[in-house]
Amino acid sequence: MSSNENPIWSYVEAKREEYIGLSDRVFDMPEIAYTETRSCAEHTAMLKAEGFRVQERIAGIPTAVMGEAGEGGPVIAILGEYDALPGLSQAPGLAEPQSIDATGYGHGCGHNLLGSAAMLAATAVKDWLAAEGIAARVRYYGCPAEEGGAAKTYMVREGLFDDVDIAITWHPASFNGVDDARSLANMRIDFTFTGKAAHAAAAPELGRSALDAVELMNIGVNYMREHMPDDARVHYAYLDAGGPAPNVVQAKATVRQLIRSRDLQGLGDLLARVRAIGDGAALMTGTQVTSKVHSAVSNLVGNRPLEEAMQAEFDALGPVPFDDEDVTFAREIRETLTKADIADTFQRLSMKPDYDLALCDFVAPLDRPFAGGMGSTDVGDVSWAVPTVQARVATCAMGTPFHTWQLTAQGKEPFAHKGMEHAAKVMAATARSVIANEVLLANAKKVHAAHLAEFPYSCPIPAETRPPVAAE
Ligand SMILES: [Zn+2]
Repeated sequence: MSSNENPIWSYVEAKREEYIGLSDRVFDMPEIAYTETRSCAEHTAMLKAEGFRVQERIAGIPTAVMGEAGEGGPVIAILGEYDALPGLSQAPGLAEPQSIDATGYGHGCGHNLLGSAAMLAATAVKDWLAAEGIAARVRYYGCPAEEGGAAKTYMVREGLFDDVDIAITWHPASFNGVDDARSLANMRIDFTFTGKAAHAAAAPELGRSALDAVELMNIGVNYMREHMPDDARVHYAYLDAGGPAPNVVQAKATVRQLIRSRDLQGLGDLLARVRAIGDGAALMTGTQVTSKVHSAVSNLVGNRPLEEAMQAEFDALGPVPFDDEDVTFAREIRETLTKADIADTFQRLSMKPDYDLALCDFVAPLDRPFAGGMGSTDVGDVSWAVPTVQARVATCAMGTPFHTWQLTAQGKEPFAHKGMEHAAKVMAATARSVIANEVLLANAKKVHAAHLAEFPYSCPIPAETRPPVAAE
């Protein structure tokens, strides 16, 4: 070991093969939000084999699990995921679209790698604490349903992070860098209109159309769009258009509105406006409207001290060590991407596009200008509960868009495995630096407390909304 190597890296390297195996098994059993029974069982078995103290079905969610190791000291949470996506079944290692799973599900967001690296990092911290006799605890949280299910938000609401000091996670990416902690708060809320059925030709005057109300609501929201903040979004989907019969006035119809805003305050403001539009649509059509929150997540809260600590660890480690063989398949994938796909990744990093770079060979600086384009994640709610930091680590060809067959195709590649191991090193090293540095931990908590004092948190999911898990 050379003198500039972090001693915790070797604990990651020692167990890389087991965790590559875990990632590949989860890849081969793609399961979507709240149905990750086999994937969660794989993670639970691995936690038990590693000697973690395991709690299953946490927050009342059958596919959520937590394992803890160590005694005393600060509590470091490392967050993993293992849910797949519908419509993204794809043969691994093939640079053309080819579905392989009968369910049509596939790991199009790389959560097979995400969960495996997070548990590998937690395992390395556990083994390092034991070897050094250091007082601290590390926890691995196996979090289901990141894709639209907001499991972490429920886990925060149930108090699962109340005694945690900091949380660390990562997400696969086509580049390396510390996450810039920008994501949108969102809420999925279902509006159901109830009217009155009638013969649409013989007695239309007796009917009150719920479908008309849904259409008027959408028109109202469309007119609102011009008058929202630039980064806010509202999307909609018809859950029930009132049935297939045009000759029956539709007595019931439901539309789901997905509202996104840069923070919880903005989300509350937009929600009030969308509710008023729903009330207006009901008034115009003589129908009644009720609404039910389906799910919600908060925006990410950054934590500068932790981000600086993770950046230092990432810079010490450098970019993922890809080789010529890795580049060969990455080039094949790159041939299937558009120039716009590739340019988009570079633009997000405020860099000039390099169309010849197949795999990322740099670690992006922490202070990169923000170039726009944000999604949402349930890590957001964890970041309101405790100081949280995330890495982005290259596991795929530069510019690969996520939620695509191309991303799924790369999920078992040796370069994806290298990115997975690298992410574990970045996270384990960050955990080690927090455990070893009381001032860093105190600063992280001080920054977090100051933010909460200015912007109080309340869970965006109302108390009556339960996780959509199967009844037993
Ligand atoms: Zn994801």
